[in-house]
Amino acid sequence: MNFLRPFSVLLAALALTASLPASAAERIPVVASFSILGDIVANVGGDRIAVTTLVGPDEDAHVFQPAPDDIKAVSRARLVVVNGLGFEGWIERLAQSANYRGAIVTASAGISARERAGDDDHDEHGHHDHDAHSHHGKDDPHAWQDPQNVIVYTRNIAAALARLDPAGADIYRKNGEAYVGKLQELDRWAIQQFAQIPDAKRRVITSHDAFEYFGAHYKVRFLAAQGVSTDSEPSAKEVAALIRQIRTQKIKALFFENMSNPKLLQQIAREAGVTPGGKLYADALSRPGGPAPDYLALMRYNIGQLLDKIRLN
Ligand SMILES: [Zn+2]
Repeated sequence: MNFLRPFSVLLAALALTASLPASAAERIPVVASFSILGDIVANVGGDRIAVTTLVGPDEDAHVFQPAPDDIKAVSRARLVVVNGLGFEGWIERLAQSANYRGAIVTASAGISARERAGDDDHDEHGHHDHDAHSHHGKDDPHAWQDPQNVIVYTRNIAAALARLDPAGADIYRKNGEAYVGKLQELDRWAIQQFAQIPDAKRRVITSHDAFEYFGAHYKVRFLAAQGVSTDSEPSAKEVAALIRQIRTQKIKALFFENMSNPKLLQQIAREAGVTPGGKLYADALSRPGGPAPDYLALMRYNIGQLLDKIRLN
């Protein structure tokens, strides 16, 4: 009977790998373009996948330059997930450099995209004159600032992972729906919070136009010093117009962003006579241990900061 032993050991080993969660080494390598998306992907994929994030915490995806490690991560990936809407202008070149042949999934597919602020209702500031950053397209990429859009992201990611790894399809769907439940809960809480503040007070100044989706969803008006991308610079005329607006509308809620240069906003705050009210997490998570280490924490933190300040407007 001894001759059967190697077979039964092998069968037992096979049964084990089929029933247990994959060990770290067997996890499916997935790349997400930036930290907020990486967190969403990790929530859906659970322990079947290993997520690598290209643009990390407190970093700015608008001006990202891939390093050799990023190329290596993409070359090893079996799936790449991007935000889309022109946010990752660098992804095609990076995929090419990495000789990546897998799918590039657009998490925002199917949401109703907003046009970049300044393309429609900010004409008086002359945004049209120097809208030179056409590589960002006409869409506003910051869709993750509305949790209802992140529900779409979550389901797109679950579907993409299920296509890649059909054996895990049920798990991805369950993980995804559990996360959707948390997003709905967050959204209900946020709507209740903002409902307590009169519309006229809901005005906020930030560095760049990252909060248009947030503003549309929660009826908060955001005025930004820069355009929709941090790589654009406003004219002196636009800055002067913004300062006038802060003064005449007596706006007190002025925030820095975690991933962009605070210099311009500091100047505006000084000239408008407003004390900046801390930091909002716009396009990136904080580092672990910071106030916004994951998407749900980021939203709760931003909303708490905003509520504290817009009450004073
Ligand atoms: Zn941005």
